[in-house]
Amino acid sequence: MIAVRSLAGKKVALFGLGGSGLATARALAAGDAYVIAWDDNPDSVAKAAGEGIGTADLRSIEWSDVAALVLSPGVPLTHPKPHWTVDLARAAGVEIIGDVELFARERRALCPDAPFIAITGTNGKSTTTALIAHIIAASGRDCQMGGNIGRAVLTLDVSAKDRFHVVECSSYQIDLAPSLDPTAGLLLNLSPDHLDRHGSMEHYASIKARLVEKSDTAIVGVDDPHSQKIAEQLVGSGRKVVRISKRKALVDGLFADGTQLYRASGGEREHVASLDGITTLRGEHNAQNALGAVAACHAVGLNLDEIRAGLASFPGLAHRMEPVARRGRVLFVNDSKATNSDAAAPALSSFERIYWIAGGLPKEGGIEPLRGYFPRVARAYLIGEAAPAFAATLGETVPFEISGTLQAAVDHAAADSSADESPESVVLLSPACASFDQFRNFEVRGDAYRAAVLALPGAEPIGGKN
Ligand code: ADP
Repeated sequence: MIAVRSLAGKKVALFGLGGSGLATARALAAGDAYVIAWDDNPDSVAKAAGEGIGTADLRSIEWSDVAALVLSPGVPLTHPKPHWTVDLARAAGVEIIGDVELFARERRALCPDAPFIAITGTNGKSTTTALIAHIIAASGRDCQMGGNIGRAVLTLDVSAKDRFHVVECSSYQIDLAPSLDPTAGLLLNLSPDHLDRHGSMEHYASIKARLVEKSDTAIVGVDDPHSQKIAEQLVGSGRKVVRISKRKALVDGLFADGTQLYRASGGEREHVASLDGITTLRGEHNAQNALGAVAACHAVGLNLDEIRAGLASFPGLAHRMEPVARRGRVLFVNDSKATNSDAAAPALSSFERIYWIAGGLPKEGGIEPLRGYFPRVARAYLIGEAAPAFAATLGETVPFEISGTLQAAVDHAAADSSADESPESVVLLSPACASFDQFRNFEVRGDAYRAAVLALPGAEPIGGKN
């Protein structure tokens, strides 16, 4: 755990006592701050109080001598409307920050040169964060990964000269981290998301941009217009910017040509790595993630051999285009994290002959945006509440059945695909739906898929995922 010393001896209000909030309260208390913590859930307050953390209803405290309000990222700062603690803090002129800000301040105070990579983007954050951490750890270095993935950032070990921190940041965390200044900041991509919490695309983009604005090296994916603009603005303000593109040959920067990654300088290209045969990094979207990882690892001092070795041994993240088993010529892939059509698109674009298991709790727009991939679908197996609507969209174009349950879908897709003569066909769970009609969450759905697949006679498991 990192003891937060920057607020030692100060009174700190903290709202939100979920996992990361409680960890933050402990880290502040360990650094001798006077913490007053609160949550709407009385059980969370009781748990904190049971650990000796100061608690009080923040409506009833004296705010004039509060040094900071520390918020959990789930608590609205601006939209749809500021949380009541935000109003109280603003009225008293109290700064409002989160755990990533506290981490950044501790690093500056203790070891400003400690290598620190921060990652954001609309899609691919977790994959890229895990990939970067894997490359660094596989090179034999001390690597700490956390933030919006895995462990809360203040539960990691304290910054040190040869210790690499790799931290995934959601837009909410960035919004609460005004002085975020990583060694390498990576903005992968931007598309409309969470606009209910950020008001407008412009506001959302301006928050994401902050992650790269104070980075020693700013790495920016330039395949969408919003990120492209941010890269231009950073160059204009004299920042060191590394551009990455998953499809355009850049004059300066890192780009992909299919599965091959290149570094260009003044129009001269140099081959840096190949993603051929790396099943965990299939698809154009993963080329973007891999380019981000190459640039970030390079910026903190890894050499190309180390980076290539780490790419090749990346075990992938569970539930994101995760190859779970092979059975003859058929590959079984778990993409349960694809909870809307945008997230399902990369998987559908990565395989040629697909037995597609889709459905669950439908999202607006259904699978209509995926129509361009329908020619790749040999047959669809529809589950959950979305089945009738999806069936209507597939219509005459794609053969389908309404399987109802995931188990029936796996059984039928396995039987049909085993009779397929193509060199490789794929049984793909990429539901384009939330899971809550039939499962507790996407992880439980993915685990159920994996279990059903591994129970098939002759299924050979692939990998051991986290
Ligand atoms: P995040 O942490 O940003 O939600 P993940 O790495 O968990 O992203 O990936 C979630 C899903 O988003 C994946 O299953 C994949 O379909 C899609 N995805 C991953 N990387 C990218 C990318 N670079 N661009 C677009 N979509 C992506």
